[in-house]
Amino acid sequence: MRAVTGRVLLLGGTGEARGLAEALAAEGVDVLSSLAGRTADPVLPPGEVRIGGFGGTEGLADWLRANPVRALVDATHPFAREMTEHAARAAARTGTPHLRLQRPGWREQPGDDWRRVGSLEEAAGAVAGFAHVFVTTGRTGLGAFAGLTQEVLVRAVDPPEPPLPPRTTVVLERGPFSVDDELALMREHAVDVVVTKDSGGHLTEAKLTAARQLGIPVVMVHRPPLPPGMTVVETVEDALAWLRAQAG
Ligand code: NAP
Repeated sequence: MRAVTGRVLLLGGTGEARGLAEALAAEGVDVLSSLAGRTADPVLPPGEVRIGGFGGTEGLADWLRANPVRALVDATHPFAREMTEHAARAAARTGTPHLRLQRPGWREQPGDDWRRVGSLEEAAGAVAGFAHVFVTTGRTGLGAFAGLTQEVLVRAVDPPEPPLPPRTTVVLERGPFSVDDELALMREHAVDVVVTKDSGGHLTEAKLTAARQLGIPVVMVHRPPLPPGMTVVETVEDALAWLRAQAG
């Protein structure tokens, strides 16, 4: 099997990014993981880590000129739209081989009642008429729900900042979550609708199973589109295969 040679810049903040960093570090590859610095106590991947933004497309392009890498792998979250756009442009400007690693979205299953919307604002509109809303879209962007007057349960890793709906209960927890835990939480708060982004992946999908079992609807926010023309893989294994091919 061909080895990956040269330094890899890995834009992270996801389980896939950590998985790829672990696989590369295990092969002795020089991997530099980059985190945005949004969470107070991030789970750090093995290998070297840098934290904080690059300063937009130009900042990242300058960084790549000063610190050339074998490849740039963008394994940020499917909703980290800005970083993904900056990475695509900066890679093109500097001629850096560039890969997008993005896990597939969730698939609706028999028994699901999903209502697909295009934004957090639309999601807030879609929960009108429900009494106990469970918002699992993360700490940022919650201002979109500030006008809701019903009971709102918000789950996030770090405390969310105002504005929040007036009747908000915050649960601070980091996944993965089990179906039993999700069922217990939803029953405790009499949740009758769940709001989520289509993040995909196994770490947080238990809420979808719990909603199906309880027979309650899920308001599913669509992913932002990817910039055109980029190479995209969905798994750590395929990212490794792409990196090995680059090495040849
Ligand atoms: P974003 O809106 O796409 O990015 C905003 C800015 O944050 C970027 O322009 C960049 O600043 C900086 N940034 C983002 N990811 C970075 C990284 N990996 N390394 C260095 N700088 C980074 O991103 P976001 O939605 O706020 O997400 C921030 C981070 O949290 C991402 O790493 C993402 O993987 C992770 N995350 C996001 C979500 C979500 O729902 N959005 C969920 C779980 C985890 P500069 O322009 O200064 O370079």
